[in-house]
Amino acid sequence: MKPTRGYAVHAADAKFEPFDFERRELGARDILIEIMYCGICHSDIHQARNEWQNSIYPMVPGHEIVGRVKETGSEVSKFREGDIAGVGCFVDSCRTCRNCTDGHEQFCRKHVAVTYNGTEMDEKTPTFGGYSSQIVVDEDYALKITAKDKLANIAPLLCAGITTYSPLKRFNVGAGQKVGIVGLGGLGHMGVKIAASMGADVTVFSTSPSKEQDARKLGAHNFVITKNPENMAALAGTYDFILDTVSAPHDLNIYLSLLGVNGAMVLVGAPEKPSEIHAFSLIGNNRTLSGSMIGGIPETQEMLDYCAEHNITSDVEIIPIQKIEEAYERTIKSDVRYRFVIDMQSLDKA
Ligand code: NAP
Ligand code: ZN
Repeated sequence: MKPTRGYAVHAADAKFEPFDFERRELGARDILIEIMYCGICHSDIHQARNEWQNSIYPMVPGHEIVGRVKETGSEVSKFREGDIAGVGCFVDSCRTCRNCTDGHEQFCRKHVAVTYNGTEMDEKTPTFGGYSSQIVVDEDYALKITAKDKLANIAPLLCAGITTYSPLKRFNVGAGQKVGIVGLGGLGHMGVKIAASMGADVTVFSTSPSKEQDARKLGAHNFVITKNPENMAALAGTYDFILDTVSAPHDLNIYLSLLGVNGAMVLVGAPEKPSEIHAFSLIGNNRTLSGSMIGGIPETQEMLDYCAEHNITSDVEIIPIQKIEEAYERTIKSDVRYRFVIDMQSLDKA
């Protein structure tokens, strides 16, 4: 077994503490990645604090993982020692059901081994995520990263990047379209960069007036403060597509009213409480409301390659792991510019 140091929470109201556990010995198709950086996704916070009511403890969160391949199993062909590899939100699936063979492994019909707060394919062995020194993963569930530097800025692509790229692509966002991104956090700022790179006219809908300048630098053409009802009313019926990344409960009807004929809104944010939708919010203008969950392995690799080609990375604040509680509090207060990323070298001193 591979002794591994991580940071874990042991209960919904507990603080993080150092946690020693073991990764499995490498199988023939496994690689061992020495983790360099791991992003802090708001989903980590929802789960560490049991806001989705499905938490398993002890929990080592983290699913925006970038690191260096240290060892390879005997049949590994995609990676060599020294390569840079990424791991996102899941580490295995059945590989045979229709969703897996179609490249939508995140919707495996048998079992998805999520990167943490879940179990391996035996549905027993707990999985531990990226707030740790190393991870062992089947090469088919690791992503290739060609960049050699700015790796901290690449880590958030493994969740925030794919979660925004996938619906923007599925709804054919592009030139000539008005696109709204609701919430300028980790997902939102990636959504702005990617939608702008696709040629759309991008508006950020935000509760934070202080983010306007940043929004424009990230590629947004317009910035709207959502707390002001007149701002919203003036825009009714004028958007083609809206991506809602908000992590806390909020009124979806207001955003639906912004969609024009055949417009669509996709929810990626996952507040803990359900939302009420008025039928007329959807009936008017033939609107569509949809959802989207991360992306499969082929699309995640496509997104990484797309971002490399378009020079898109995440804007990050790098922290040592000892500052994790502060980073969580600041993220909850919408005070992150725009993703916290843990420098895993700090683990040695833990
Ligand atoms: P984040 O960095 O905390 O960003 C969320 C943003 O939402 C904030 O920056 C803030 O933007 C806005 N916001 C926060 N509270 C709000 C409120 N009460 N009313 C209105 N706006 C509010 O979080 P994230 O990491 O981007 O994640 C966002 C959500 O997506 C989380 O729920 C997460 O679990 C979920 N998620 C889903 C998937 C998926 O596959 N579907 C993947 C990853 C994450 P402003 O300051 O601009 O208002
Ligand atoms: Zn995430």
